[in-house]
Formats: sequence, structure tokens, C-alpha cells
Amino acid sequence: MRVFPDRMPGRFPVAGLIIVLLLLFMVLPVDLHAKPPKCAVCGERIVGQGFKVDGKHYHPQCFTCAVCGDPLGGKYVKENGTYYHADCYVDRFAPRCDHCGEPIVGNYIEIDGSVYHDTCYKHNFAPICKATGERISGTILQNDWGETIAASNQHLVRDCSACGRFAVLDRSLRLSDDRIICSICRQNAVTREAHGRRLLERTYALLQKQGVEIPVPLNQIELRLVDRDRLDPIAERIGTKDSHGICRYGFESRNNRIVSESYQIYILSYLSEESFISVAAHELFHVWQHAVRADGPSSRILEGGANLAMYAVLDEMEGEYAEYRRDKLFKDPDPVYGDGFRMMHRIYEREGMEGVLRHSIRKNPRPAGQPR
Ligand SMILES: [Zn+2]
Ligand SMILES: [Zn+2]
Ligand SMILES: [Zn+2]
Ligand SMILES: [Zn+2]
Ligand SMILES: [Zn+2]
Repeated sequence: MRVFPDRMPGRFPVAGLIIVLLLLFMVLPVDLHAKPPKCAVCGERIVGQGFKVDGKHYHPQCFTCAVCGDPLGGKYVKENGTYYHADCYVDRFAPRCDHCGEPIVGNYIEIDGSVYHDTCYKHNFAPICKATGERISGTILQNDWGETIAASNQHLVRDCSACGRFAVLDRSLRLSDDRIICSICRQNAVTREAHGRRLLERTYALLQKQGVEIPVPLNQIELRLVDRDRLDPIAERIGTKDSHGICRYGFESRNNRIVSESYQIYILSYLSEESFISVAAHELFHVWQHAVRADGPSSRILEGGANLAMYAVLDEMEGEYAEYRRDKLFKDPDPVYGDGFRMMHRIYEREGMEGVLRHSIRKNPRPAGQPR
């Protein structure tokens, strides 16, 4: 979350800089022998009343506004040696509000090259707070989805555990493990294993379409929907940072030969379908890695490859979640998951999925059927 960046406050400082005033009336002449001064404009001697401004003398009717030409009287604005009525100056030089067209005096907001009165901006252009639906007048916070909230309403939202959007608390689901599911993810949240199974099948097929042939039949891959309290201890035990899913591999061996293998995929319950599929793609790629003995090269290659598989599946999906998630992969600062993904993506761009699979297998693979 960051402070909304592209809004620049500004100020057109009429009141401060200017409105110099003056009322210098002189009654002339005092000394009958002295000649009255000449008017700096018309050159005639000033008899009676006049102004003295910046060392020069003027007839009152000769001391005029550079914009309208009318006499300035006792008040003026001075800029670069030129004198104006305050109103004329504002009219000519103040920035104009791109909403109402009136000149702006005092505070304004500049955004994308347009300027607005503070109030015009607040009522017509300020971002809407997702928590209240109202335009934001104070500090604005924005997330990677481009959603905005007023900083003062931060306590009304949390990040959705499934998609990362702002989840408005009174419209979201709060799970017993303290995760929050936003109103959008709620609509197709995966809460039953049968539902998850169907999506796992779909993901398996999507990976196949991308050229990832998993040499384990789907019915030998177990799926478990779990909550955070269940997932985190397993993740900790096997030392993974995968936050929404885990792939576990087990085998039984006799006489140094594997006699049976098992694959279990754990995925957090209540993910949206899109989010579930991305996690499933990542974990199914780990199944592929185990099955072809690709495990071992480095965690960057393992996790980068699994994220690349997620990316390839997201590429087959429509909609804003897929777009958001792909973008997230590129921006992930993690040295294993993020750097690993970017490295694998370069290979993918160059050599396609085939290249990714080739790079995933270590130089001296353990023969199939041999335990590690
Ligand atoms: Zn004059
Ligand atoms: Zn004027
Ligand atoms: Zn305005
Ligand atoms: Zn969500
Ligand atoms: Zn992983």
C-alpha cells in the first residue's frame, strides 16, 4: 500500500506576494518657489493630488492598470515593475480550474497536467474511498489493484487473503484462522474438496496444454483443502515459504527401490477459483519436479519453475485477477520466488516451456525409481 502519488498540491499566491497598497496623497506645492513634480506618465506637472509610487509621481487618473487601463486608486498588485488591479491580475495570470473554468487563487491541485480548485477536485475528481464510497479529501492510500481508500478509513479494511484487494471488513468473510476473504472472492470461493478437485483437473489439463506432461495420474494426487492453522505448521516442517499451498512427496522403498510414491497437494480453503488455479499450477509443477527427479538443482530453479508454470496457466486465463497475478510475479522481490521466476521467464521467452523443463532437470539425474 502506498500514498497515492500523482496528485500535486500547489498554490497561486496572490494574497501573499502582492496586494501592496498605498495611499500616498500629496498636496502640492508647499513651497511656492518649488515647482510641482511631473507625472511619470503624461509629463504634465501635478497640481493638487497625486501618487508617489516607487519614487515616481503620477496623476491619480494616470496611474492605471496594465490590463484594463482604468485608474488604480489606492490599491494595486505589482509584478515585474507593472501595476494591476488585484482582480485584473488574477484574471490575467492565475491558473484556471479545468473543471469550472474560474481562476484559482490560493490552494489548487494539479493532476495529470490539469489544475483544479481544491473544492472542485474534491467533489468531482478525488478518488473514491472503497470503504465508504465517498470521495477522499485527505491522504489517499492505493494498493497494487489501483484501489483507493482514505488513510483515515484504514481500520475499515484489510487485504483480502485470497486476492490482495482491499476487503471491506463489514462486507467480507472472516475465517476462524483470522483470514479475510473479500466480497469478490467470496462469490466463487473453493470450500469443498469436490470443487477443488474439478479445478485441479482443469489446471492439470492447462499445464498439459502448455507442454507440462506430469507423469503421475491425477487420481494419484491427493488434494486437501486446509486452513492457515493447518498449512503453516506443515510449511514450517518442510521449510517452504509457499504461502497458499504446499506439495508433499512421500515414498516407500525396499532394497533401495521405491515401491510406492504419494503426492499430496494442500491448498488453502476459501480461495477464489482463479487464485486456487494459480496455486494449483504451482504445486502441480512441484509434482512434476518430484516425478522426473528434477528436485535438487536449487531452490531458485524449483520455485522459479513452479511460478513459471503458474504464469503459463495465468496466461491462459482471462480477467483482471490473472493480469494482477502475472504482474505480481514480475514484481516479487523475493530472491528465490521472484528472481527464480524472472530467470525461468527469460528461458521461457527464449526456448518456450520445453526449455524451462530442460533447465529444471539437474545435470546428473537420479535414476527413476531410486530414492534420494
Ligand atoms: Zn499624468
Ligand atoms: Zn484593471
Ligand atoms: Zn473550479
Ligand atoms: Zn479477494
Ligand atoms: Zn513452491
